[in-house]
Amino acid sequence: MERVAIALSFDVDADSSQLYRAPRQAANPDLSDLSLGLFGIRRGLPRILELLSEVGALGTFFAPGATVLAHSDAIREVARLGHEIAHHGHHHFAPSELSEADQVSEVEQGIAAIEDCIGHPPTGYRAPEWKLSRFTLGLLAERRFTYDSSLMADDRPYTVDGAGRGIVELPVHWALDDFPHLGFTAAYAGPLRNPHEVFQLWWDEVESAIGDRRDIVFCMHPEVIARGWIFGAFSSFVARLAGDERTVLLPCEQLAERHRGVGTEAS
Ligand SMILES: [Zn+2]
Repeated sequence: MERVAIALSFDVDADSSQLYRAPRQAANPDLSDLSLGLFGIRRGLPRILELLSEVGALGTFFAPGATVLAHSDAIREVARLGHEIAHHGHHHFAPSELSEADQVSEVEQGIAAIEDCIGHPPTGYRAPEWKLSRFTLGLLAERRFTYDSSLMADDRPYTVDGAGRGIVELPVHWALDDFPHLGFTAAYAGPLRNPHEVFQLWWDEVESAIGDRRDIVFCMHPEVIARGWIFGAFSSFVARLAGDERTVLLPCEQLAERHRGVGTEAS
């Protein structure tokens, strides 16, 4: 029987999501906010890469173009190890809040930054804040992106329409994201749950997915998942996944390949 595919995806926002959040931030950035993102680059990424290497798995790292430019050595190292680098906007602006011209600019700058850094363009996209727009979906399809991972119309991969072209949607959900459970910033007061409870919840979803024969995606942030008290529980979760003969860990682009041409549904 074919194994159920699980994608471990990481949004490497670093400092971009804070730096460009509001125009006044650029003039007088909040160093505390920025420093949290920098932890993700400095400590988070190396811990995650070591763990994935230990279990022999490849992941997907969604990075804003501005992050790729500011931390090109770190992103290049992720790619060198065989992991997928995917598009996550350029300034981490939410597409649904931008003009069409700005959406074009965000998509094109993000592609250029990744291509310059790792030598080839991305094939996958995740909208910052999961605020995708119909227009940006069309831009992605026109540029031959094979998948998006920002929507929630199903709990298994499906197809969405982008400017008349089918694009695979690898759906997300807030409960399968580390941030609502374990993230905390001055602007977002998360519950800071016991990580063991969170990974039990995630394992329940894995068992449900195996029962349904459906492939799933988890979304994480290096500055959240790689904190010491969380990372131990996360490492156990990943080791358990890697050792389970009913599942296979795949990067998003390979997971999307398994679903190309699956029936179209409304996004
Ligand atoms: Zn993000």
